Amino acid sequence: MSMQATISKALDIKWHLTERVDSLKGSQRPPRGRQAREDLSARGAISSLSNADIKMTVVSESYSPSIAPLQALNKINLRDLHLETHHRGNLLVLRTFGHSTDVSQIQTFMPVEDETGDVDRIAIFNFGLSSWPEKRLPSGIVLAIKEPFYSSVSEDIGVALCIHHPSDVIFLEDNYSAFPSNWQLPIKVKTASEWKLEGNEALKKKDFIKANHCYNKGLAVVHDIDIKLDLLRNRSQARLFLGSYEAAKEDAVASTQGTMHHDPKYGKALYRAGRAAYELSDYAFALKMFQRLVDAFPSDQDGPKEIKRTRLRMQEARNGVFEFEAMAQEIADTADYRTQQASYLRHIDVRPKGLFATENIAAGEIILCEKAFVASNTPKNTPALSVMINPTNNRALHGSHVAIWVEAVRKAFHNPSLGEHILNLHDGSPANLATEPIPLVVDGMPVVDVFRMQNIIEHAAFGFTADESRIRKDVQKAFKADSSGVWPVAARMNHSCLFNASRGFVGDFIIVRASKDILQNEEVTVMFCPADGNFEQLQQNLEGWGICCDCRLCKAEIDFVKGAESRASVMYEVTQFLKEQPLLKVARMLVDGEIPSDLVKEAKKLEKALKKTYPMKLFATCVPNTSKIIELLPTFGMANVHEWLMFAHYRQPPRALDYAHFVLMDHGYKVTIQSSGISLDRTNCVLSMTAVKAMQYIEHYYTQANVKEVAKSARALAEEMHVTYNGSMIGYQGWS
Ligand SMILES: [Zn+2]
Repeated sequence: MSMQATISKALDIKWHLTERVDSLKGSQRPPRGRQAREDLSARGAISSLSNADIKMTVVSESYSPSIAPLQALNKINLRDLHLETHHRGNLLVLRTFGHSTDVSQIQTFMPVEDETGDVDRIAIFNFGLSSWPEKRLPSGIVLAIKEPFYSSVSEDIGVALCIHHPSDVIFLEDNYSAFPSNWQLPIKVKTASEWKLEGNEALKKKDFIKANHCYNKGLAVVHDIDIKLDLLRNRSQARLFLGSYEAAKEDAVASTQGTMHHDPKYGKALYRAGRAAYELSDYAFALKMFQRLVDAFPSDQDGPKEIKRTRLRMQEARNGVFEFEAMAQEIADTADYRTQQASYLRHIDVRPKGLFATENIAAGEIILCEKAFVASNTPKNTPALSVMINPTNNRALHGSHVAIWVEAVRKAFHNPSLGEHILNLHDGSPANLATEPIPLVVDGMPVVDVFRMQNIIEHAAFGFTADESRIRKDVQKAFKADSSGVWPVAARMNHSCLFNASRGFVGDFIIVRASKDILQNEEVTVMFCPADGNFEQLQQNLEGWGICCDCRLCKAEIDFVKGAESRASVMYEVTQFLKEQPLLKVARMLVDGEIPSDLVKEAKKLEKALKKTYPMKLFATCVPNTSKIIELLPTFGMANVHEWLMFAHYRQPPRALDYAHFVLMDHGYKVTIQSSGISLDRTNCVLSMTAVKAMQYIEHYYTQANVKEVAKSARALAEEMHVTYNGSMIGYQGWS
């Protein structure tokens, strides 16, 4: 099934579901017969959908996670449930039986029973199953579901207890007061040492979830201080692999206290504490740990390597000096788009309304570089894509967007201090109600609202591009991908059609540079969608982001409402013309000879028609009574046709040069050429690769004319514009 067909099928299911939900709301759950238990055991929790090529998950209308502590909730049984109802103030204690079924990348079904022997199913999102294998809930575990939600999952699957938020379910240990006494097993009580050995076995088999669980159990019964230190140190290892860096760091640090400094175990603990801190970008602490490691064990192999790496990160964060070329090469060699580099955020002040420069930043300079909070690069033809439908806004999330959503929830759930970075971002609601600390911790677990996270990602995520040119042929396919990520600081930049910053990527590392000089305290803005001439479309797109742009260009366009309308039809003709006569075709015609004059005539006709829709009195400010331009607004809609004409006049260099100037003017650049070089007024410039090409032509023209100073200055400008647009010099190709 194609993606489009899947999404439309999912939306259809959702529509039927909504009708069903409305008709069932509040009615008593029908009693289950004796057969139900056997059915659930025999068939598994569900039978259909799991074999589809593209897996689908339809989530419910959004609702808030429970913030009530376990102790404050009233225990109920399955028979007390009502359909399509959130049982606020209540608690269900259930035991799993039979076997689980994964319906998608993110959702698992499992049969459950309550103390009275009544049975049903849970549908759980695999976000934060920190205690058990993420895709396989074992039989016989006892869980408490806080404020359960009993709802239709789909037409063919029927109803289930839906668990969306990871903190709404607690896996009960038998020492919890809510644990049913008749479910307590007469198992042999294990000692802390036995738990340690079992944990170590699991660790060897890379079953980190089980290892973590065993060490937890051991720590609950331990008396011997040495065994306690072992359990903590080993648990930190399991937690490092699970991505719970905060907890791993805490365990490792705790286990250093009390361990003799000549004991190799001390070295292990320091190493793990350092690694966890490194992953949390706490480089100063990581360096302290690694240095202690090397001091205590001068012949340690890993310590010096880690120190070197950590120092490099600290330099990057301080100086903003990065080896982009080497980074790109490493991505190409390893086929891993995830980068290690530290974020560089020294030039900017993060304010609730946006990003502001803390000092003057010159055009071309780095404003910030940032590590992705989450990023995913899903190959386009991955089988078993997950499609997730959010009925609240009727949007379908698929591919890398689902992947980064799952990843973001997990990361925030396991590392509350990292969660803060992303949970404070705008989620599209009129006002972020961030009066509570984010994330709130209840019953020892951070409360992460998965629906809010989804909205945040819809608003904050953007795509990134991997540099495909240098990647080995065999892995190239993986990089022709649908990619997206979230950069929490960069996500705070607002849109302006007359933006002053441009973002580029090396792998998942974002590089934001100034596209014009930025003054201290000035807001840093980027372009969400280009002001490419179709003003109505632009406004519609911006509305989708909840943006009302009031830049000077938008004001000029609004003053020219009629013009905007007539421009749309000319723009359409231009698009058609460029589709039929692409630049590649022009290049081929030039090799063979001349461009047919009727084609050039047609282009000029379109240019003339477009020009009328950009009246001078609105788009330029002149010295009174002259045509000398003081200030220029971009006329971006004309850039493509001027670029075409620039190429078409390749054999008439002075004419081509004129068109190169026009292209730059369309981008709002005011170009002045003197014998000493080129000066560029960037006041209202909008940067694009077309502008880079035009500047490269100017370089080519003056090289041919042997005007070295001007050619040199054009080259420097073309390079600077390329670097600003792409983040680095990677991929730069001169005029040819
Ligand atoms: Zn605007």
